[in-house]
Amino acid sequence: MVFKEKRLTKKIQKILINDLPKKELEKALEQIKQITNPINKPLQLATRVKIHPTKEQEQVLWALAENCRLIYYFANKERKDWWDQNKILPKNKQDITNKPTYNSQSSLLPKLKKQYPRYQQNYSKTLQDTLKQLEADYKSFHTLRNNGYTDAEPPRFKGKKYFTTIHYNQKGFKIEGHKITFNHFYPTKETKEVDLSFQMEGKFDFRNQKVKQVTIFQTYKTKEFFLSIIYEPQIPEYQDNGIYQAIDQGMINLVAAVNSHTGKTITVKNKRVDKYWQPKIEEVQSKRDHCKKYSNKWHWYNDKLSKMIRKQANQQRDFQHKTSKKIVENTKANTIIIGDLNSKDMSRKKKGDKKNDKSRHRSMQNSGSIARFARFLTYKAKLVGKRIIRISERNSSKRCCFCMKKENRKLSERIIICDCGLVIDRDINSAGIQMQRFLAILALSLKRPVVGQRLLKVFREKFFAIQSQTSNESSSILGVGRTRKKSKMLVKTL
Ligand SMILES: [Zn+2]
Repeated sequence: MVFKEKRLTKKIQKILINDLPKKELEKALEQIKQITNPINKPLQLATRVKIHPTKEQEQVLWALAENCRLIYYFANKERKDWWDQNKILPKNKQDITNKPTYNSQSSLLPKLKKQYPRYQQNYSKTLQDTLKQLEADYKSFHTLRNNGYTDAEPPRFKGKKYFTTIHYNQKGFKIEGHKITFNHFYPTKETKEVDLSFQMEGKFDFRNQKVKQVTIFQTYKTKEFFLSIIYEPQIPEYQDNGIYQAIDQGMINLVAAVNSHTGKTITVKNKRVDKYWQPKIEEVQSKRDHCKKYSNKWHWYNDKLSKMIRKQANQQRDFQHKTSKKIVENTKANTIIIGDLNSKDMSRKKKGDKKNDKSRHRSMQNSGSIARFARFLTYKAKLVGKRIIRISERNSSKRCCFCMKKENRKLSERIIICDCGLVIDRDINSAGIQMQRFLAILALSLKRPVVGQRLLKVFREKFFAIQSQTSNESSSILGVGRTRKKSKMLVKTL
């Protein structure tokens, strides 16, 4: 039972690194470069604000959107005709002649404007950006085809009733406080210019932001006008301060975090809004399904249902926003380590089995919500000059974070009782493993094993000093006498 810490840290480093397949280790080392060699890239964020156009302004917006639609329509027709004739994907390097591209199409715009003055009404870049949008739509179509989706179709033509999104890229708009003004050359009947200035809703302050792009769009159902604004916020530069926080994400504890400096842990219980909403949603759903499909009553229930689902999703998202903000801002660590979700094996369960399918469906949903939380953490960390590092979570729930013994455990085991005497919350254990693995990989990357080993040793001492106190309490709650004795031993060995 008595470990020699120095030898142990080396042993732990080896075990935790060997747990990772070569690819995952390479990925982790790549991530560590964000600490050892940080590049401060600008961050782009998007926000959405509501605007209230007057009748006159609405008329102008529609006219401008219609011009964008027509450009999209004709450019798409040219591309589609070419595709129907040739069916050549960009990856097949055959003789490609006369293939319409963004460059070829946008070079025709000046001529088109001369011939059809109506296109002069738009601020000229908005038409170019419509062509760029078309290019992007084709790119995603090509990607689908390349990936074997043979039934993917080229982008569709949009109907006249459809408000085509207007893109203003970098130029053509001016923001003063909460007022935004767009350039255009659409005359009214009196050949007077209509001022396309809008008061933006909300508290968001654009004064200190570098606004990169503004798009004007209309919601499909409610026909309200919104702006989607992409901006680059000013962010403090990241610097490694030698303090790290490892986070284990889950569905019961949204966050279980441990600090490398103090060894302290925090857990944040997930707010299960679905527990409140799910029975209500199922009730309305069943009522709806008892009505004649598409009858008035059916529509009434259907609207009610989608409202409830939206509300549930909003509450969940709101909670994730608040929690991620708190987590990122309240830690002294400038570097936060989370699991790399891509390396988690989600397809292990067998197909066909209904119960398994259901649980897989749920676990996919959960992984979606966890991925979103990870995205929130990532950008909120950047906003305050911190970084998120993703490292594979392999075996982090199987190994005991003290003695490294590997054991398969059921998901329902919330408290881990290891033969070595450690009694610990399952999620805290995972976070502890992640922290130790991160320190091991950091040592490997620095090629100065002393730093990583010392950090690992200090972390283990502090972490287990705290854990053995709390595990004494939890084991007495559990009434496991044998374990309690052993965990007392653990205190001595540390
Ligand atoms: Zn153990």
